[in-house]
Amino acid sequence: MTVEIICVGTEILLGNIVNTNAAYLAGKCADLGLVNYYQSVVGDNAERLTESLKLAAGRSDIVILSGGLGPTEDDLTKEVAAEFAGKALVMNEECRDRIRTYFEARKMDISENNWKQAMIPEDAVIFQNNNGTAPGMAIETEMVKMILLPGPPNELIPMFEESVVPYLKQFTPGVIESQIVKICGASESRVETMLKDLIDRQSNPTIATYAKTGEVHIRVTAMAPNKKEAAKLLKPVVKEIKSRFGNDIYTTEPDVTLEKAVVDLLIANNMTFTCAESCTGGMLSARLISVPGVSEVYKAGFITYSNKAKRKLLGVKKLTLEKYGAVSSQTAKEMAKGLLADSKCDVGVAITGLAGPDGGTKEKPVGLVYIACSVRGEITVKECHFRGNRDKIRESAVSYALMLTRSCLLEYISKVTFGKK
Ligand code: ATP
Ligand code: MG
Repeated sequence: MTVEIICVGTEILLGNIVNTNAAYLAGKCADLGLVNYYQSVVGDNAERLTESLKLAAGRSDIVILSGGLGPTEDDLTKEVAAEFAGKALVMNEECRDRIRTYFEARKMDISENNWKQAMIPEDAVIFQNNNGTAPGMAIETEMVKMILLPGPPNELIPMFEESVVPYLKQFTPGVIESQIVKICGASESRVETMLKDLIDRQSNPTIATYAKTGEVHIRVTAMAPNKKEAAKLLKPVVKEIKSRFGNDIYTTEPDVTLEKAVVDLLIANNMTFTCAESCTGGMLSARLISVPGVSEVYKAGFITYSNKAKRKLLGVKKLTLEKYGAVSSQTAKEMAKGLLADSKCDVGVAITGLAGPDGGTKEKPVGLVYIACSVRGEITVKECHFRGNRDKIRESAVSYALMLTRSCLLEYISKVTFGKK
């Protein structure tokens, strides 16, 4: 079954509001296994909405419309959809009573145009609104099923969860199961290129990629008559993805984050952790400390923002700072070295960089970040060039530091395991 989303509202076209309903509805439809090829936005204009509806009905099985169910003149989604379906609008007693109760409970006067919301196209399936006055509805024709939902997200979302999901389930085959594969250390374009052949011939299961800062998540979704059959469909595809990305996959569990994967790795190998942050100002520590159970491995974190702090707390040499600068591989290396010397931890991570917006030069542009990771004295330093504003650069630096910690740990563990140490 294919589904299409039309969001109605001149406010969206003008950029006055962000179209969060489209993102919400698209995500929910994907979870339900409904295939969404098109989304559009149209203003509060009957002619253009009719055009959009015609186009959508001609190419999709289900069309979900959001917005324009209110009581005012410019709310015309229902009128246009009813006209398109050739259905007359009739007063629905239950809807009328609910509107009356809604206003009475709030001691508000009912204006004449509120009754417009109780006018429902004949034979429509009604989705009651427990958070407002506009009922949602499904209007079914031979050609298409139109689902009309109120625009305000606090009305649309509960209505979707409570009434539309059960309604749509009758059109989805059996169960939908999905498996997530989370990757770090590869860009979304590289992941997509590496999966291109699988994505090109996908039908069931489907494969979708989602980019996060420093990570890419792959969701494999299968539809089948039952859970067992769905698992059977998922297994070979997930196996193939695993073989292509190997160690870049940090988890296949939906609830495991990159920071949790790092903490788990430290716990499993009985290794303690410490870090020193300059431009990220504690964000690495915050992410790690958000993981329950981290106290077993996380010992201390330092925010060494000034040169003086880098010297005093980590023993970075004055000469290093003068010769190479605070943002340099040499400084990052000495920060990591100093961390382990004092703390007796097994793993130490240091971050120093330029988050901007000022302070960049040709040699050292904004976004330049050095990250050093020492695992029992073996230090790896990476030079990174991140893009975006100050927040984005700092966020990227933290993700990259977690990734580097993980890869250095894995390398160290494999050396130890295979007796090279
Ligand atoms: P109302 O009874 O409030 O008029 P409605 O169903 O007619 O509801 P609209 O008039 O289209 O809906 O929008 C009402 C409000 O709902 C908007 O001002 C906006 O805050 C929110 N809204 C509408 N469409 C969207 C959307 N696509 N994404 C996010 N919010 C939306
Ligand atoms: Mg409105």
